[in-house]
Amino acid sequence: MSPQLSFIIPLYNEAQVFHLLVERLDQLYAQLPCSAEFVLIDDGSRDATPVLMEDLALKDARFKAVFLSRNFGHQIAVSAGMAHVAGTEAVMILDGDLQDPPELALPFYEHIRQGYEVVYAVRKKRKENVIKRGAYWAFYRLLNAISSIDIPLDSGDFCMISRRVNDHIVAMPERSRFIRGMRTWVGFKQIGVEYEREARRAGEPKYNFKMLFRLAYDGVFNFSEVPLRVITKLGVAAVLISLIYLSTVIVLKILGYPIPQGFITLVFAISLFSGVQLVSLGIIGEYLSRIYAQVKERPLFIVRQVIAGQQQQELTQSSNNQR
Ligand code: UDP
Ligand code: MG
Repeated sequence: MSPQLSFIIPLYNEAQVFHLLVERLDQLYAQLPCSAEFVLIDDGSRDATPVLMEDLALKDARFKAVFLSRNFGHQIAVSAGMAHVAGTEAVMILDGDLQDPPELALPFYEHIRQGYEVVYAVRKKRKENVIKRGAYWAFYRLLNAISSIDIPLDSGDFCMISRRVNDHIVAMPERSRFIRGMRTWVGFKQIGVEYEREARRAGEPKYNFKMLFRLAYDGVFNFSEVPLRVITKLGVAAVLISLIYLSTVIVLKILGYPIPQGFITLVFAISLFSGVQLVSLGIIGEYLSRIYAQVKERPLFIVRQVIAGQQQQELTQSSNNQR
């Protein structure tokens, strides 16, 4: 019999927190008003995580273990989980480090029962350092200002969605995944629920600043064409400024004023506008690289093995063939 609710939990080198996680999930399971499964995704961990997952899935049928062939990154690991859920009603996505309290499944599921299809968690307070908090704060506001959809402020991937929404997101063919954006794009009845984000219970954060930047880039470039339009506006502005400058110089010359030598102005103008051109090329390049990734049509991820219902399956096919 298929469970009603699936939990998707991506894990990358989370051996230190694994036992705490399983304990919390086990406690939660007893309180759930519905049947449930836990889909753990090993995102190419190099520590004991895969071994722990395998042992658990082989002895406890509530746990399904999906092993990716290498580290594909958090967003892809979640996408892999979404392709492996059996839950008939709803799917919950949460981090494995217990920063997202699993117990929120109870109020979230209540909302699903009331007809909401996306219940996303909104962070009240981050227990992280000032720089990271500030960066997140600025990012969400910038994204909202320029993106074509209203991605809710301060909400991450922690959420519960209906099985239908899950399947719509799985069917979206984009290679560059920004799940919280895709979840907003899908539509249906959505609601935000505030919560306090916990501190990581054990182990190290796997997202470094570079990866957070990549994620922010995906958010901006996957959901906004504003940067492209800004280039055009900058170009128009530059042409106007130079025309004004030129006509001023001509008028001054006619009126018999001496024309200033302007070495500094010249260097400044050259460096400013070559900078603008390089940035513009970079922006175009961002879109181009996304188009390139898309046309290559590589699978999103490759699954090495799945252990489900205490059974092992060797898998060689990739995500494309599973759909
Ligand atoms: N994660 C993953 N693949 C990665 C990086 C992270 O599956 O390449 C998982 C990680 O194990 C955790 C979740 O994604 O369960 C969130 O990662 P992390 O706690 O490092 O992110 P942060 O909380 O700092 O945003
Ligand atoms: Mg974390």
